Amino acid sequence: MNFHHFRQALHFFCLAGLLAVILIGTNPASAAKASPSGPAEAVSWHITETDNFRVLNYGTRPLDRAIGQSCERLRTRLAVQLLGKVSGSWKPKCDVVLHPSDASYDREVGAGGNSTIASALVDRLQSKISLRRIDVRSTRVDWQQTSLAHELTHVVLADRFEFDVLPRWLDEGIAIMADSAAKRKQHVLRAGRDVTQGTHFALAELLLLDGYPPPTRWGAFYDQSAAIVEFLVAQGGYQRLMEFVDLACERGYDHAFEEVYETTPLEFERRWLNSLKVRARPANPSLSARSAAWMPAGSGG
Ligand SMILES: [Zn+2]
Repeated sequence: MNFHHFRQALHFFCLAGLLAVILIGTNPASAAKASPSGPAEAVSWHITETDNFRVLNYGTRPLDRAIGQSCERLRTRLAVQLLGKVSGSWKPKCDVVLHPSDASYDREVGAGGNSTIASALVDRLQSKISLRRIDVRSTRVDWQQTSLAHELTHVVLADRFEFDVLPRWLDEGIAIMADSAAKRKQHVLRAGRDVTQGTHFALAELLLLDGYPPPTRWGAFYDQSAAIVEFLVAQGGYQRLMEFVDLACERGYDHAFEEVYETTPLEFERRWLNSLKVRARPANPSLSARSAAWMPAGSGG
């Protein structure tokens, strides 16, 4: 099994274009806010910068630097945890765009973002990262707690793999590891239920998926991606997982399973699916709402 075809068409977003779209979409009547004690305050886009981030907000004044600083701390923590070290400064910096309305967010992120709170985008130009961006529904006041770590994980991981877009199961599975313990547990329980019902992805199907599956399979895809990454990390941490991915890129999954986890894909699949069945065994009535439950957990692309 090999995934050399996991390349993604390059996007060419630019911040100027982004701002233009947002501003064009802003109702001029709302471009000034009446203040009870004085003249109307003009609202506009503001940029607050730290070493590696530019946080953009739309309002009467720039944001407190605290949000950028908490992004910095999170970046450091994720990089050390996942990659064992912090890479150099980000050039370009990562834009965190706080959309003032759902309409603004939906317009930028597109139809795929309908059920998400935030979304990450990393683009490359001749294999060099040319854009890092996280779009956020700032109408969701809990976005920092529910979504930032997940989306920032996508951006941090992109530093580790210079030429290829990561296989989606790996990218999403690792990002879900940054979600809350409760969310992760639900993913794994639902994955186990799918295995019990025979509606799961076969291992080869999941690993070799080209991009995301059709929307009807998103739930199973996120659940199993979360479950397989959790299972692999439990067997040797992130460093071994990264070695596994490197080797799979170079010589295929068969070789990588044997070399890094000393097993065959078939044997790995048997052990993994068995463990999921065991996890799913205790009755849990909350598992009935798959379609409603996975969407907040995905919280982005
Ligand atoms: Zn994601």
